[in-house]
Amino acid sequence: MTVQRILIVSGTHGNEINPVWAVKKFNREENSLNHGIEYEYIIGNPVAYEKGYRYIDLDLNRSFKEIKNHDQDNNSVYEINRANFLVDQFGIHGSKPCQIAIDLHTTTANMGTSIVLYGRRYKDFCLAALLQNKFGLPIYLHEKDKAQTGFLVESWPCGLVIEIGAVAQNFYDLKIIDRFSLIISSLREEIDKLKNNLIELPKELVVHVHQGSIDYPRDEKGDIDGLIHPERINQDWKMIKKGDPLFLDSQGIIHKYERDQMIWPVFIGEVAYKEKKIAMSYTKKEVICSKKQWIQEFESF
Ligand SMILES: [Zn+2]
Repeated sequence: MTVQRILIVSGTHGNEINPVWAVKKFNREENSLNHGIEYEYIIGNPVAYEKGYRYIDLDLNRSFKEIKNHDQDNNSVYEINRANFLVDQFGIHGSKPCQIAIDLHTTTANMGTSIVLYGRRYKDFCLAALLQNKFGLPIYLHEKDKAQTGFLVESWPCGLVIEIGAVAQNFYDLKIIDRFSLIISSLREEIDKLKNNLIELPKELVVHVHQGSIDYPRDEKGDIDGLIHPERINQDWKMIKKGDPLFLDSQGIIHKYERDQMIWPVFIGEVAYKEKKIAMSYTKKEVICSKKQWIQEFESF
């Protein structure tokens, strides 16, 4: 295994403050050098974090697609500059190259502790399978959504997002902080085992594959005219079938799910996704059989 340096990013969204605290605490207690692997702990969006904002000009976690365009138009956009800086510094060809990036986020939705993957990369599958095996974590596999691209971890050859909720933006919650600390130390243990060829993969990986998103009901002016239905709120990962309630509008009308295909919702009512016109995203379940190749890929980067 050729992993030498791992990037742990918190505060990619400046108002998600619990992972920043967890990392600060963790970094003080644990040596940054661990069994020959060096850990870099950084704040993704330090200016937004100082102000308590999600971002300054653009969502940093959608800004990594612009990286090849070092054109002048983008120079004034803080997050695009920041994304370029992070890749120049810590990218696989950067001055302090990191082979793996772990990006820590919180959500206002009742998701519990989960893993988000972008696309079907074997190295990501391997890390996700090890964590799923250890903690039974649900995995949201995000792919083929043209409206949502430019995620941070996609700019590294291996990387995943840890997403924990529910917690409000800019609100410290010790339970959430402790969960991040546990996940970071477990990841370090698993990567250490990988390096020493002590890993046995579980037989399979269960993923929830992104299918699309559902907007709130809206009035003629385009304003939101409907709340997440009381039977739906906080029910992330729980299956929805035809006829189940989704929203309750201002006239008391229930908006139901009308299609035949069963779906599993995530990010129900996520506050930050209102601007993206997403009331919830939905997935389908898929079981993927493990391959030895998932581990073998760690031998070369
Ligand atoms: Zn976030």
